[in-house]
Amino acid sequence: MEKSEIRKDYFQEKYVIVAPKRAKRPHKVLIKEEDQVTLCHFCPDQIEKESIISKTSSHENGWDVLVINNKFPALIEDNPRAFGKQEVVIETPEHNKEIHELSIEHIEKIIDTYIDRFDTLSKIKGVRYVIVFKNEGGKAGASIAHAHSQVVALPLLPPDIKEEYQSYGNYQVENGTCPYCDVIKKETGKSRVIWENEHFFVVSPFASQFPYGAWFLPKRHFKTMNEMTVGEKKSLATALKVLLAKLDQIDTAYNYFFHNSANGEDYHMHLKLEPRPNIWAGLELGTGVVINPVPPEDAAKFYRQ
Ligand SMILES: [Zn+2]
Ligand SMILES: [Zn+2]
Repeated sequence: MEKSEIRKDYFQEKYVIVAPKRAKRPHKVLIKEEDQVTLCHFCPDQIEKESIISKTSSHENGWDVLVINNKFPALIEDNPRAFGKQEVVIETPEHNKEIHELSIEHIEKIIDTYIDRFDTLSKIKGVRYVIVFKNEGGKAGASIAHAHSQVVALPLLPPDIKEEYQSYGNYQVENGTCPYCDVIKKETGKSRVIWENEHFFVVSPFASQFPYGAWFLPKRHFKTMNEMTVGEKKSLATALKVLLAKLDQIDTAYNYFFHNSANGEDYHMHLKLEPRPNIWAGLELGTGVVINPVPPEDAAKFYRQ
């Protein structure tokens, strides 16, 4: 791809200007060895017992994945003016381990923990939407944060989610099919495919708003993450490990989050990975039209290498 190209999302009213820059790909940032960390709130010896919600372990006293209450939540259950719940999933007791460095079995435990918290928080009366997500700052940031994810229960259906559900519904009415099932059909065998096995299909979407953006789509059509089979969870863990290890090579900040049905209505559960090597500025914030300097075809090739 030489020239820029305006692309529209598969089914949403979202646009991206894919504008390949001749500039080289960002290289991994070399940083000095971390200074001795004096205080990390997510290291085992710093965890306050009363904040622990649940843990998974393969040994008696320790834990592999720990869930705690967010220490400074903006939303709490006994505030009717900002009702909700915020939890932190600590992905490993080891301070300097990143998620892609953990075993597939360990990542499966993290996914099981996500599912457990999604299930539990979804059942709280007054909760309208539960999001499971991870923010990873990249090593170029000031500090390496102990690997963790977050689960937030909201008392409202977020507008972005509502809009996506509406586009999903419109597509179904017009085509009689699921847009995500159709993405798998349309992209199979194409240059944007990153990874696939019998359970999952990972693609760099045609109109990715994010450089190196990826969608993790289960091949089976189901509504929420708690419906994943053992095989599907293992596949997702494997695909996450592969992609995040690759992303670590260019050391970029990223988010990933699960998209679930919120209201029991038909949906195709999936996970979206959105790296953020560049900062959104005037055009993006003022118009919602985004520039992506990495064509999805190149991104897919990068992940496959
Ligand atoms: Zn730590
Ligand atoms: Zn589907």
